[in-house]
Amino acid sequence: MYNKVTVEDLDVKGRKVLVRCDFNVPLDENGNITDDTRIKGAMPTIEYLVNNGARVILCSHMGKPKGEPVPSLSLAPVAKSLSEKLGKDVVFAADDNVVGDNAKAAVAAMKDGDVVLLENTRYRKEETKNIEDFSKDLASLADLFVNDAFGTAHRAHCSNVGVTEFLKPAAAGYLIQKEIEFLGNAVNNPVRPLVAILGGSKVSSKISVIENLLKKVDKLIIGGGMAYTFFAAQGKTVGTSLLEEDYIDYAKKMLSEAGDKIVLPVDTVVAKEFANDAESKVVEGNIPDGWMGLDIGSKTIELFKDALKDAKTVVWNGPMGVFEMPNFAKGTNVIAQMLADLDATTIIGGGDSVAAVNQAGLADKMSHISTGGGASMEFLEGKDLPGIVALTDK
Ligand code: AMP
Repeated sequence: MYNKVTVEDLDVKGRKVLVRCDFNVPLDENGNITDDTRIKGAMPTIEYLVNNGARVILCSHMGKPKGEPVPSLSLAPVAKSLSEKLGKDVVFAADDNVVGDNAKAAVAAMKDGDVVLLENTRYRKEETKNIEDFSKDLASLADLFVNDAFGTAHRAHCSNVGVTEFLKPAAAGYLIQKEIEFLGNAVNNPVRPLVAILGGSKVSSKISVIENLLKKVDKLIIGGGMAYTFFAAQGKTVGTSLLEEDYIDYAKKMLSEAGDKIVLPVDTVVAKEFANDAESKVVEGNIPDGWMGLDIGSKTIELFKDALKDAKTVVWNGPMGVFEMPNFAKGTNVIAQMLADLDATTIIGGGDSVAAVNQAGLADKMSHISTGGGASMEFLEGKDLPGIVALTDK
């Protein structure tokens, strides 16, 4: 398990601290930020550094400019938003080569507590290839490094991995620290019973997650479209439901190895077609010809509730049905509510289940909502995340 130096372990007063943030926010056609969640998420680390007299140099990528300056992907709007949130001027260093004359002059003029934001790190072609020149350029600006960009922690780029070769110590910011604490501990060092809930469309995209979690959990609840490949493995018919024929044997193997650890739906809300207003009914066991499963039924909800009742740690990834359609969102919403009511550590492991919990208005009732899509999945797969591995050990 990771035990990394954190931002609070650093002596930052008067030091230049390069902070890799995730400011990859959506913009409208006029360059206005339409959702500032990620900027808000970075504020605790930035505020801590400012309040402790560091000279804070922020960097991030935005979108995919593919190694060249693309004005519509400039971080200039982020500097404006940060200035408003911090209540102080954030100097934007508008260099097409990210570490250019503007950045160097801005950093040279910094006083303790000042904040400078560099241009989109992906304006440099070296960034995503982790080529040393750019890592050295970034490191040349600062004395210390903090990584707070969990969303890119599964990638080895200059601004999160390469730079740590030249700037030590390299510490975890609050966001990464929280991901390690919750998502990492949930899987590797959980308070038991640990129950995982997996849903979503495909078995094939979650094989590594299933395999890793099966080794660690006390129970694995499977819902959503992926359940029907397991139905087929049990010899049930699935009608026109999602089915990955190539994975039926795999599902059989998982079921025989996992014994009663795997909990599958016992009834299904089925519909005539993939539409919110399609004719629908609930069936137990086999799904009849011409019908497709779009949500879990009420007996399954009770079964899952029972499997969850003593849980002390729960990790959830993937909806229980087509939650985007109100008529097939019940299973997902009820699971979200069950987690909200549980006396347990509840972790929403990225992707569509985060959207589902937000849609149900229950986000603040969960212990932790992971901020990274791909990075969260790789954590659940038990893979090492390069952006975390590269940080200095305690
Ligand atoms: P994933 O990205 O694999 O987590 O899948 C999320 C998607 O799975 C969502 O868009 C859901 O609508 C979809 N999904 C969940 N259950 C079903 C189902 N029974 N049939 C079709 N799609 C489903």
